[in-house]
Amino acid sequence: MYDVHVVGAGPAGSFAAYTAAVRGKKVLLSEEHPQVGSPVACSGLVSKSGLEEMSDLVNYRKITINSLHGAMIYSGKERFVVSAAEGDKAYLFDRRAFDVLACESAVSEGAKLALSDHVDAASVAAQCVIGADGPNSAMALGFGFPKIRDFVITMQADFEMQVEDLHMISAYIDREKFPGFFGWVIPKGDGSAKVGMGARLPCDIRKKYADFKKLLGIENKPGESLLSAVIPINMRPRTGIARDGKKIVLCGDAAGQVKATTGGGIYFGASCGRLAGLHFEDPARYESEWKRMYGNDLAMHGWIYRAMHGFGGSHQIAAARFLKMAGAEGFLSNFGEMDRVTKTFNLKNLARHIASK
Ligand SMILES: Cc1cc2nc3c(=O)[nH]c(=O)nc-3n(C[C@H](O)[C@H](O)[C@H](O)COP(=O)(O)OP(=O)(O)OC[C@H]3O[C@@H](n4cnc5c(N)ncnc54)[C@H](O)[C@@H]3O)c2cc1C
Repeated sequence: MYDVHVVGAGPAGSFAAYTAAVRGKKVLLSEEHPQVGSPVACSGLVSKSGLEEMSDLVNYRKITINSLHGAMIYSGKERFVVSAAEGDKAYLFDRRAFDVLACESAVSEGAKLALSDHVDAASVAAQCVIGADGPNSAMALGFGFPKIRDFVITMQADFEMQVEDLHMISAYIDREKFPGFFGWVIPKGDGSAKVGMGARLPCDIRKKYADFKKLLGIENKPGESLLSAVIPINMRPRTGIARDGKKIVLCGDAAGQVKATTGGGIYFGASCGRLAGLHFEDPARYESEWKRMYGNDLAMHGWIYRAMHGFGGSHQIAAARFLKMAGAEGFLSNFGEMDRVTKTFNLKNLARHIASK
């Protein structure tokens, strides 16, 4: 009955379903929960440029909670301040509403939504399948895709708290406190903030999260919307296969299309979801297209991640000092791109930065 079965109605799945439906394909979009967008396991922060690109499906202005123009990054005793030269750089938005709006766009183009519909490899309803079923992908497991190597475990909750700047994120890098990842405070602009952290497994995340709350002086405050979830920080080695007459492609967290630096996966998941909706009949083409368009950016996030976390704690502090001396704050303030980092770190920008000194 269906040309393609899209499994998972998160950003990747809804963008894939929308694109396939616009092409006139018969699309079944299955979501295992009774509602799209719940439960939320995300902060809901995306660059302005990324949100603009996705605005054909989701009008982010309707669901924006706060605007952000920079970040304060703490490493050892160093503090970096990266602030956009002009205007907003990113928006914090209602992630549940984002998923609902993206899914509504897919449905309005003709995709059929099936809620409370848990799908496994044996119950797919089409010869072509798009696995957009998140970090613990049943499609990847059931169809024998190679594994994603590394994950971080996260915790996050909302707290009433005062922050230095209502429109700046704070990020904390410390090998002991946040091994293999970082801590964050994202102001909501109303006297509260999203306080979260991640760490590579194995680790006692509850204990580390309690220590982080203490560091921020909010250990006795009740948090709201507490969540804990994993984030993949590697790309899956293979994301498309043709097997036993079926064609299966993976996108979003299921494919590890996530920025290793921050764990942000909405923009790349949705963008690769579109490509999955375009090329699901040809898994090899899908794989080469998303790698051509986004592979370098995701790989560069991986290199930066390894440079940040691959060495000892003293190296992290020395690197922070060196970057500060080398003018990294000014460089990132002028040229920083949160998602497409190849637009930041290139020879042209480096030359412009050196010339401005
Ligand atoms: C604490 C935290 C904070 C984050 N903050 C940000 C952020 O600020 N910005 C950002 O860009 N990214 C952030 N991320 C990452 C972001 O949430 C993910 O990258 C993004 O949700 C990936 O989208 P997706 O559609 O691939 O997967 P998901 O959003 O996980 O969607 C998968 C969907 O598939 C459904 N599903 C799963 N299995 C099945 C099945 N077998 N059958 C049917 N349905 C199924 C699930 O219920 C879910 O709705 C954060 C992640 C965490 C954990």
